[in-house]
Amino acid sequence: MDKYLKAIKENVCSICVDSNEKGFCTLNAKETCAVELFFPQILETVHSVDSKKMQDYHDKLRETVCVKCRAQEDGNCYLREDANCSLDRYFSLIVEIIHKVDAGKI
Ligand code: SF4
Ligand code: SF4
Repeated sequence: MDKYLKAIKENVCSICVDSNEKGFCTLNAKETCAVELFFPQILETVHSVDSKKMQDYHDKLRETVCVKCRAQEDGNCYLREDANCSLDRYFSLIVEIIHKVDAGKI
């Protein structure tokens, strides 16, 4: 798990709009990052999909993670609609990074 989290910090947090110039997260104690909150489930979700189509990963994420998230109601999420969920914003990159860690490329 640690190697994945390290790779996420280095490759996602570093470019996240919610991080500072040094790549440190700027969310306050009352805000939650879905990438951190759901990381075990995100990893399991990515590993459960075997497809070349990124949409298949996004669909699975909605089924496994978004359904458990407080921000989603009746399949709609106000954070996703405002591009305000870091998990949704960077999910394609997260999938790519997990695959690279699995392949020993990072
Ligand atoms: S919001 Fe999440 S993805 Fe963005 S810098 Fe903070 S921990 Fe990383
Ligand atoms: S897209 Fe919405 S429902 Fe899904 S994890 Fe992000 S905030 Fe939660």
